[in-house]
Amino acid sequence: MFIFPWKEVFEMNDIRLVTLENKKKTTIQVGNIRIGRDFVLIAGPCSVEDEEHTLNIATAVKKAGANMLRGGAFKPRTSPYSFQGLGLKGLKILKKAQELTGMPIVSEVLDPRDVSWMCDYVDILQIGARNMQNFSLLKEVGKAERPVLLKRGMYSTISEWLSCAEYILKEGNSDVILCERGIRTFETYSRNTLDLSAVPAVKELSHLPIIVDPTHATGRVSLIPPMSLAAVVSGADGLIIEVHDNPEEALSDKDQALTPESFAELADKIFRLRDFMEELN
Ligand code: PEP
Ligand code: MN
Repeated sequence: MFIFPWKEVFEMNDIRLVTLENKKKTTIQVGNIRIGRDFVLIAGPCSVEDEEHTLNIATAVKKAGANMLRGGAFKPRTSPYSFQGLGLKGLKILKKAQELTGMPIVSEVLDPRDVSWMCDYVDILQIGARNMQNFSLLKEVGKAERPVLLKRGMYSTISEWLSCAEYILKEGNSDVILCERGIRTFETYSRNTLDLSAVPAVKELSHLPIIVDPTHATGRVSLIPPMSLAAVVSGADGLIIEVHDNPEEALSDKDQALTPESFAELADKIFRLRDFMEELN
């Protein structure tokens, strides 16, 4: 008997808690933002480098309309010789930025052993693309009392990604925000290929909110504004964008950091487009 080879490909993994069936849309309260209902605009540096830069950037992105601050204290770098992040010192700087601006903090956790103590410093635990299928880390954040921002792995299907969210929900933490950040294709002009169709696809499969990271998806400053706006049109619940006050000197991802000025210009368009989309729907 002939079996269609693509049937396998389209079959979903066993997802139960993440599926849309019998569950209305999840909203996650972080500070005064209800993720899944209000548009979340997360901005900040790739890495926390020092107090001065971080506080500068935090103040600027808040003024531009960002409602959460991102910043890596533990960095998953391709080379072990690249800047690895400030660790605890970086988290303390983020805490200061939060006290100064009132913005909730999003930061990546790399190691299951760091999950519980990191919750004292961050409002949302980020799982990076490279760790999407780190199952011991997923189980650990599943026990944490913090929402989780789960990035899509660069080689992962939507089905595999949702299965990873399932790991977190199965441990009892239902506050998961998915983040499309581009996948590897044969294209090399952009750092990755932003799969915007993942946004409506996830929305027809799951009740979880989904945001888009146009920074790591494109890797190019010129492509970030148009893809951010395209993400809004695709129905994304938010965006996460890297901003640096001196991109040329940034210790990581300097080619893809927006200046505070270009971020402010973009943020204005994002909110205007978002209002227009709400009227349209
Ligand atoms: C990041 O957001 O800092 C990051 C490393 O992103 P990703 O895991 O998507 O590569
Ligand atoms: Mn980065």
